Amino acid sequence: MGRNTGPVCRLCRREGTKLFLKGTRCDTPKCAVDRREGVPGMHQYRRGKASEYAIRLREKQKVKRYYGIFERQFRKYYAEANRRAGNTGDALMSLLERRLDNVVTRLGFAASRPQARQIIRHGHILINGRKLDIPSYLVCPGDQIQVKNRDHSRKLVSSNMAEGPPPVPEWLDRLSVDPPEGRVTRMPSTQDISLPVTPQLIIELLSR
Ligand code: SF4
Repeated sequence: MGRNTGPVCRLCRREGTKLFLKGTRCDTPKCAVDRREGVPGMHQYRRGKASEYAIRLREKQKVKRYYGIFERQFRKYYAEANRRAGNTGDALMSLLERRLDNVVTRLGFAASRPQARQIIRHGHILINGRKLDIPSYLVCPGDQIQVKNRDHSRKLVSSNMAEGPPPVPEWLDRLSVDPPEGRVTRMPSTQDISLPVTPQLIIELLSR
């Protein structure tokens, strides 16, 4: 999978909201969204009123950047959500929220989604007792998320929870901090997503 190697704080400034891409720094006064006004680039103060299209595009880009996925993969999630019964926007957000890298972050095992992806890729995470190194794996209710029983793996994850583990959303259950272990209790809904987003706007853009 490709990855964004540029300055990530620009992405938050472009979307005008915190996307939490830099771990602990995001909660400090060093956060670029708090420090610098306006969007990045030379002509930030010349931009006029956003068009209907621009509003929908920004909503889509915000979600893609928050979950760290690119356009092609995002379209696949949309196609999958479209096939499901019920509201397509809610189905899309539920699919994205169930990604393993997101779950590892929300359980507090990683400080950010990019770090969670690395932890998973390096084989530190077990699902139902078996190693799983695919960040896009979609968790299901009943799945147990554990950290490999190895000093290096446990230390790596514990260091992210040293200053107190973050609160977990209702659809997840953190069974223990040491050893780090969590469980999926139910499917997530749009209300469980911490990012301020209107999924309907994304669907309106993608279904044109
Ligand atoms: Fe975004 Fe975090 Fe950078 Fe703030 S510190 S702009 S939340 S990546």
